[in-house]
Amino acid sequence: MTQQPPGARLSLVLDALGAPADGPAARRLAEAFGGVPAAVRERSVGEPAYLARRLAFASGGEIVLHDDVVAAVLLHLAPTPTAPRGLDLAEWVAGAADDATLDVLAAALGARPGFAGLGTPYFALAPAGYARPRFADDRGWNEPGRLLGLTFTPEQPGLACRPEDDDCPACSHLLVRRVRESADGPDPVGTTAGTTTGPVDPAGTVDALTAALTAGLLTEDAHRVPLADLLALHASGLMERAESQLTCRACRRVVCLTLYRDSAPTFAHHVLNDARRRPLEPVPPVEQWGDPARVARARDAMRYVDHEPGAWFLVEERGVLHLDARYSYSAVIDDSVLIRLDDAETETYRTGGHAALSRLAARIQHSAPYREESPYHRRNLYTGPDAAKYRAAVTAAIADHTWLAQQHRRNP
Ligand SMILES: [Zn+2]
Repeated sequence: MTQQPPGARLSLVLDALGAPADGPAARRLAEAFGGVPAAVRERSVGEPAYLARRLAFASGGEIVLHDDVVAAVLLHLAPTPTAPRGLDLAEWVAGAADDATLDVLAAALGARPGFAGLGTPYFALAPAGYARPRFADDRGWNEPGRLLGLTFTPEQPGLACRPEDDDCPACSHLLVRRVRESADGPDPVGTTAGTTTGPVDPAGTVDALTAALTAGLLTEDAHRVPLADLLALHASGLMERAESQLTCRACRRVVCLTLYRDSAPTFAHHVLNDARRRPLEPVPPVEQWGDPARVARARDAMRYVDHEPGAWFLVEERGVLHLDARYSYSAVIDDSVLIRLDDAETETYRTGGHAALSRLAARIQHSAPYREESPYHRRNLYTGPDAAKYRAAVTAAIADHTWLAQQHRRNP
């Protein structure tokens, strides 16, 4: 390896970001990492698919390619299976040793840290690139000795998925494709996870996602089509695009499985912001697409009745009315209570309608229901033993009427 000043080494990294794998910038960086990678891993990601290749060098350097373009460069300081010693950071970033804290990195890189979420500091570096330090357990960046490495990307952290998450153990194996029948012989016809060619198998992918959801690896976005309804809604032909969104607990990426009426399914990972901006199509009434069991479940489920924007929602479950009333006193205290209306309150609503509920919601707000002295404190179903169940049921019932839905309608 030729010896170069650390500043020159860092510019090798930055020059390679976004460059073609067979171009001079990527080749110079590979040379500086030791020439030939010690391990190469490949996988096809998503649909439409891109090819992710990870070139790991024995020196501790790693180049991540997406369709043969450099999507990330990783400097591993801590030992890895391919680099038992790890890189010496001082050789790559002048003024920073392997035990660098965030402040030391800031001084060495001449940049102030930005934050992509609470646990993700990063630096914007000229001319175009970002450095994201990785600390043990994503914390303790003021303590020396916690730095595991640096990840360089052309995209700002937080605005795009992390290239290393292509291999997330919790969510990177969930796309199922149909095995193509080979022209030469009787290949097994069926479906299999991890197959890299062949069209998406919607039912197989729904099964894989459902298993991950059941295992607690994913959470489901209640504002989108429930995974359990996705195939039936698609089959009904009533929706132009039926989409389920599920968030991975491990990497925080949002898996979006979209079944189109007139084109092939897609499967992609997005950061939360991008997932929220995806088009939101209203779900048609269940009677139009659900089987009798599904229709019966919907009849028994909590359903939306009325709401006052920013203040309250009224929902009904088998004839019983519940009021979700928001209370807000500061940026810190902003939540809602869920009250089962008693007979007198129900009667007041029957006679007084919407305005009566607004008055009740105002009384709840004035009583400061987070304090035990409030008469609504003990009636709050969101703090009772079935709190999680109630929150999920109300969220599902009001999904189409929430702020999020309004945002989507304003910014389609
Ligand atoms: Zn994941």
